[in-house]
Amino acid sequence: MKTTLVDFTAAHDSDRPILLTGGAVVTMDPSIPDLDAGDVLLVGPQIIAIGADLRSDPGHGAAAASALVVDTRGAIVGPGFVDTHRHAWEAQLRRSIPDVSDLGEYVMSTLAGVAPNYAPEDMYIGTRLAALTALDSGITTMLDFSHNSRTSAHSDAALNALIDTGIRGVHASMGPHFGEWDRQWPKHMNRLVSDFHGAADGLVTVRLAALATDEIAGPAIAYGPELAAFASDLGVWTSIDAVFGIPSSEAILRWARMGILDPTLTLIHATGLTPEAWTAMGDAGVTVSLAPTSDAQIGLESAVPAVDEALAVGIRPGLSIDV
Ligand SMILES: [Zn+2]
Repeated sequence: MKTTLVDFTAAHDSDRPILLTGGAVVTMDPSIPDLDAGDVLLVGPQIIAIGADLRSDPGHGAAAASALVVDTRGAIVGPGFVDTHRHAWEAQLRRSIPDVSDLGEYVMSTLAGVAPNYAPEDMYIGTRLAALTALDSGITTMLDFSHNSRTSAHSDAALNALIDTGIRGVHASMGPHFGEWDRQWPKHMNRLVSDFHGAADGLVTVRLAALATDEIAGPAIAYGPELAAFASDLGVWTSIDAVFGIPSSEAILRWARMGILDPTLTLIHATGLTPEAWTAMGDAGVTVSLAPTSDAQIGLESAVPAVDEALAVGIRPGLSIDV
């Protein structure tokens, strides 16, 4: 029978240390070398020690000897992955996207077709399912680019789903592309920030979400001086989706001239951008989220993840699941 760590710890004294033993330990910490086979000692939510054999380590032997032991031989033990962009509300539509062959079909089937019919509880179900499947695949931090915020209740439902799942979640709020909605966005973000920023002991935070240009759904949800000023006043950072091709490259150069291309921005996709746009992004110190699977499936510009372009201007890109 498969036992999850949650079941395992619930059945035992929560103060008792846990020893993960025998796994290939990838620390991602320059001061602690990786181990082909080693131990990780946990007490509550804290990693207390990492070593080749903690049960014979004078400093940690007693705690390790009293620990619940989890045999991780044959597994990789490491920090959780970070998904830098996912539209979590769409999770219950999985298996329908493979029928989509380009961006236009995705926009019409999902954003124009399904999204307007979503009630708050549908937002909750999708976001909860996305967060659970993220955790199940080793992703412990997920940025939810929540772009179906038709009412305040839709946003509350998405945020509560993150909190109820226990994931480290970033709720990035954007109004919907099409259909009826309350026009509460972005103003309602003042309340979202006061009610939810730092919720769940700091695991859940809030940021602004927008599109790069007005090409898909008009100017209201496109990044520009007004949204930049709004985010700055509110003290939140911004994720910008659908950044690709010549129109986005021109937008990036425009933002640079306006002084609103800065390190508070994450630009998503970044396929088919011009060298001039990349130079401006590097100079401004933005972060970049690549979406290699959806780029290829939906055919966004070159559909080749811009790893080399990012590294060449000093940006280490993050990865994302998208749809
Ligand atoms: Zn996206």
